[in-house]
Amino acid sequence: MPEISYGEAVRIAPRIRRVTAPNPGRMTGPGTNTYLVGEDEIALVDPGPAIETHVDALERICDGRLRWILVTHTHRDHSPAAQLLAARTGAELVGNVIPNDGYQDVTFAEARPMAQDERLSGRGFTIRALLTPGHVANHVCYLVEEDGVLMTGDHMMGGSTVVIVPPAGDMKDYIDSLERMLTYDIEVVAPGHGDLISAPQDEIRRLIAHRLGREQKVIEGLRRTGPARIATLTPTVYDDVDPALHEWAALSLHAHLLKLAAEGRASVDGETWRLAD
Ligand SMILES: [Zn+2]
Repeated sequence: MPEISYGEAVRIAPRIRRVTAPNPGRMTGPGTNTYLVGEDEIALVDPGPAIETHVDALERICDGRLRWILVTHTHRDHSPAAQLLAARTGAELVGNVIPNDGYQDVTFAEARPMAQDERLSGRGFTIRALLTPGHVANHVCYLVEEDGVLMTGDHMMGGSTVVIVPPAGDMKDYIDSLERMLTYDIEVVAPGHGDLISAPQDEIRRLIAHRLGREQKVIEGLRRTGPARIATLTPTVYDDVDPALHEWAALSLHAHLLKLAAEGRASVDGETWRLAD
C-alpha cells in the first residue's frame, strides 16, 4: 500500500473516496478505512474510531453534505466515531446492533437496520446491503452498484486473515457469506483495512479454499494428537503461523471446532475436543 496521508480523501472509484483513520496496528493494518460515497449527498461507511482529528477531517471533507453514516459492524475500530459525527451533522445512523460480547462498541446502540439486498439511494448512487455474518453476527457489506465496488469492512481484508471470535463470530456463517458473495456483480473490493482488492472472485475463492484447508489441518491435528484442548491443538494446526499470533489463532481454531461440531464431525467434553467416530 502506498504511503497513507491520514485526514485526506483519496478517490478510489468514480463515486467513492477513502479517508484512512490514524489507528495503525497489528489488527488494523495502516488504519481503519472510512469510505465516502457520493458528492452532493454523501453516505459514509465505517466512520472508524473516535479520534478527534479523524472526525474533524470527515466533517470537513463532507462539508455539510453528509446524510447517512453506515457501519459494517460495531467493533471498536469501526463505529465509535458514528455518534460524534451524527451529533455534528444530523446524519442518520444505519447498521445492525447485537448484544455486547465484550468486543462491541456499546455507543452504537440505535440505528436503522438494513435487510438483505435492501437499497439506499442517494443523489447519483445506490448502495445495496449484503448481510455477511461470520467475522461477527451483525456484519454487513455494502455494494455501490454503479461502480461495482463492495465495501467489506472486516469480512475481507487487504493482506491479513479475518479473525473469527465465537460466539458472535461463526466459521460456518463466514464461509457461507463468502459463497454468497460469488453470486454478486463485484468488480473491486474495498476492505475496512488495507488496499483495494481487484479480481475479487479469485480472492473470494482463495479465502474459501484457505479456510477449508485449515479445517482439514484441524481434523488431521486431532487425528494425530487424539482428544485435546484448544491450547494443545493450536501449535499443531497453526504450525505455519507466527507464534505471536497464536492467541488469535486459538479463537479461530475454536470457531473451526464449533463448525465441525455443528456438522456432527467433532464433539467436545468439558474442554476436550475429539473427532466423531
Ligand atoms: Zn471487526
